[in-house]
Amino acid sequence: MHLAAYPRVRLGHFPTPLEFMPRLSAHLGGPNLYIKRDDCTGLATGGNKTRKLEFLVADALARGADTLITQGAVQSNHARQTVAAAAKLGLRCKILLEERVSGAGPEYDESGNVLLDRLLGGEIVARYPAGTNMQAEMEKLADALRGDGRKPYVIPGGGSNPVGALGYVACAQELLNQSFEQGVRIDHVVHATGSTGTQAGLVVGLAAGNSGIPVYGISVRAQRDIQEDNVWRLVQNTLDFMGLPAAAAKRSDVVANSDYVGAGYGVPTEAMIEAIRLTAEHEAVLLDPVYSGKGMAGLIALIRAGHFKKGENVVFVHTGGAVGLYGYRQIF
Ligand SMILES: *Cc1c(COP(=O)(O)O)cnc(C)c1O
Repeated sequence: MHLAAYPRVRLGHFPTPLEFMPRLSAHLGGPNLYIKRDDCTGLATGGNKTRKLEFLVADALARGADTLITQGAVQSNHARQTVAAAAKLGLRCKILLEERVSGAGPEYDESGNVLLDRLLGGEIVARYPAGTNMQAEMEKLADALRGDGRKPYVIPGGGSNPVGALGYVACAQELLNQSFEQGVRIDHVVHATGSTGTQAGLVVGLAAGNSGIPVYGISVRAQRDIQEDNVWRLVQNTLDFMGLPAAAAKRSDVVANSDYVGAGYGVPTEAMIEAIRLTAEHEAVLLDPVYSGKGMAGLIALIRAGHFKKGENVVFVHTGGAVGLYGYRQIF
């Protein structure tokens, strides 16, 4: 695997720290919990999309783009990091927001990521009702811009395509290096999974690197089979894109659990609130209500159910998003 062969722009602070969580581990009484601080990637409050954007924006520049277009939920961390990447590189950025969470209130609609989108100079083109074909809306906008002589580059929701997934192939390599440097044998990697690029990249990086480390995705939206199929499709496409053998990863390497979604994407659950409180009070680490809070809720439930052995080392990948807390003030 030769990641230096792909164009990359530097947007973030890497490597992100790999830290032990002694107080949370002791409180839960299960495995040793470590945290990979991808909330600290540094791009306008950071998050996992920064790694993907280093490859996606490099591809956009290589194609002569002058405008980035992307889409996400109203409190999209991906949209905010894309706007930030555009600001840093002097590109224009247009974002399309889907009202995927209904009746969340004025802070959800205007604070958190939305406030930062505006501050960073992003243009919120429009808000669309839940269920809109957002990819089609982005293509329409791109066509209109091309008609005006502009050079748009469309980034899919969550930056999840083979180019974006390279960011998490790189993260897998970074994690293996840290595991070696710190003398920490990693037994499991757990994280929140949504648009699939994070999990697909980690699976490619860890499986094709023959690490033997299993990746466990906690779904924040789709039901288990659908999520696993979507991740698996991107794993295969990423292997193909990288010129790696299709057999470098197996279908069984893709594991997702959708038991912690609750009523739907972005809808709070009691377990998410407990997970955010416990992690804040024991480790001073801020999780987010939509992704990492539900991911940690899933990890805590698995620990309580005895899924991990005592003495095992579990790495939770903190994918960022704490800015979204300001959109959810009332639930705390
Ligand atoms: C986008 C996002 C995720 C999910 O990552 P995917 O690559 O979309 O699966 C997890 N956590 C946060 C905070 C995110 O913004």
